[in-house]
Amino acid sequence: MKRERKLVAFDMDGTLLEESVIRTLAKKFGFASGLSEVQNDSSLLGYQRTQKIAALLRGLDEIDVIETIGKMKMIKNWRSAIYELKAHGHVVGIISDSYTLACDYLRKKMDLDFSIANVLHSNENHLLTGRVSMPLGWEKIGCKCKISVCKRYHLEKMAQKFNIPLSNTVVVGDTVSDLCMIECAGLGIAMMPKDETIKEKSDKVITSPDLSTIVPLVI
Ligand SMILES: [Zn+2]
Repeated sequence: MKRERKLVAFDMDGTLLEESVIRTLAKKFGFASGLSEVQNDSSLLGYQRTQKIAALLRGLDEIDVIETIGKMKMIKNWRSAIYELKAHGHVVGIISDSYTLACDYLRKKMDLDFSIANVLHSNENHLLTGRVSMPLGWEKIGCKCKISVCKRYHLEKMAQKFNIPLSNTVVVGDTVSDLCMIECAGLGIAMMPKDETIKEKSDKVITSPDLSTIVPLVI
């Protein structure tokens, strides 16, 4: 019997990359305290937090940002794992609530089929303006996540685009921002989960930072 084509969507921060992009940038460019202030502000909805965090990036040079991202440590065995998934004909991509500056870089480096993330605006001198365009999506499907990238909405959209039934989707994530896609995917995998909820809601939990561990679960 011919194997069915699947769609595999990865979170980026803490999943494909060991650290979070925004925390790495905050450390490097000196806005760590501003970042934790926004991250700990419980009066903000998820997407409002993304807008406030984008404002902290104002004035940074896109090129410096990409260079910093390029030095970040990636998960072990990503190359062989992605190669194997693609060799089986599966569609592989990233759905992240980070930035296209990072996700597009990784999509090219990893030879992935799609990437979805927030778009940081920059001016003609490649300096970030502090503004961000967010893919959202929760407002269209009534998802309770209310974050800048509703991962469930975009998983459904990609599944439709690549003509793959939702039951044949696999998602890999590590935090509550991945919850809405983990709950609706055919197979939800928690990779190095950062809290209990994500562990409970996932079909499989992986505790070793090694991408080769997901291959036998998918193919
Ligand atoms: Zn959602």
